[in-house]
Amino acid sequence: MKIYADNAATTKMSPAAIRAMMSCLEETYGNPSSLYALGQEAKETLEKARAAIAAVINAEPQEIIITSGGSEADNQALRSAALAGKKKGKTHLISTAFEHHAVLHTLKKLEDEGFAVTLLPVHENGLVRLEEVAAAIREDTCLVSVMTANNEIGTVQPIGEIGALCREKGVTFHTDAVQAVGHLPLDVKAQQIDMLSASAHKFHGPKGVGFLYVRKGVPLTNLIEGGAQERGKRAGTENVAAAVSMAAALKETAGSMAETEARLRPLRDRLIAGLGEIPHSALNGDAVHRLPGNVNFCFEGIEGESLLLLLDDRGICASSGSACTSGSLDPSHVLLAIGRVHDVAHGSLRLTLGEDATEEQVDYIIQNVKEVVEYLRSFSPIWRDLTSGKAAFIL
Ligand SMILES: *Cc1c(COP(=O)(O)O)cnc(C)c1O
Repeated sequence: MKIYADNAATTKMSPAAIRAMMSCLEETYGNPSSLYALGQEAKETLEKARAAIAAVINAEPQEIIITSGGSEADNQALRSAALAGKKKGKTHLISTAFEHHAVLHTLKKLEDEGFAVTLLPVHENGLVRLEEVAAAIREDTCLVSVMTANNEIGTVQPIGEIGALCREKGVTFHTDAVQAVGHLPLDVKAQQIDMLSASAHKFHGPKGVGFLYVRKGVPLTNLIEGGAQERGKRAGTENVAAAVSMAAALKETAGSMAETEARLRPLRDRLIAGLGEIPHSALNGDAVHRLPGNVNFCFEGIEGESLLLLLDDRGICASSGSACTSGSLDPSHVLLAIGRVHDVAHGSLRLTLGEDATEEQVDYIIQNVKEVVEYLRSFSPIWRDLTSGKAAFIL
């Protein structure tokens, strides 16, 4: 059996997204800035895509900036809020300890440039507490950035409540919604979101394209100087085919969101129950407030990397830590943020189910993870120390 269970890393492009891209590449190849009909046709196609994207999150089309993906959107959102704040003498930024590196590394840069950063704890359940967000806001706070759903443990934050709090306090609110757009209902007006980042390849669109929603009136700085594309906020000839493909993917994925969620939740919970039968294991992150397809476990006494390789041999694509940290020996900053100690964090496994997952596949995953964990433990020196009483179990 072949099972792709790494949909948080990337998703397969949908047929509709591929068709939209192909037709655009073949026929609508003009430059949207050109005045002749072919160029204007490309511009119209691009603007239609922008409107379709905006509609999914209840934004206005002119509030959508097409970017090269989620990382660029995060960078631009944070830099824009920091610069706008600085002009008013506000140089304090608030975020959380388990954001994506696109946010955390930008914050680190901003800190080096003189900004003050507060990273809120996310506790054992992987959730921020509203009262802690409120307590962290100071006179000089210019931005709160809290991700909608975490890419490793899938926990979903109270975005509407944080949005309302920030609006009341007059602080700009950004959310990295890369894991949520197309998968969870989002409404930038109702949830009072000022800026939101998304990436097409997380909802069956192409890689290398995403968008930043910026509420009308919220100041935006460009990262790339040049022509006047994207309201002058993101220079460079527009990648019309990618934008159109992203819109097609988003319309489709978001359109079947409710059915997908209803189908995936029971499969996810079946997977959680099955893996929970493995001795000395634990689910990472809240069991309820999590993405419908996300399962993340720690197994004591093994290395996540070995687990992944053996699962790959059995046809299962999964992940341990995030793609950006795998290859290094540092355990995931997300698992450390929810209080897992290094040894335990090393034995982690993330399985993220796609829309087409089946019960048969889930049972196959459970069976194989059980076998592989048992096999790895059979010659693990850490496991031997644990079972002989030389070291104490944590899980
Ligand atoms: C994938 C991801 C990103 C980065 O998006 P890219 O389009 O790959 O740059 C940012 N944040 C989160 C939460 C992600 O899952």
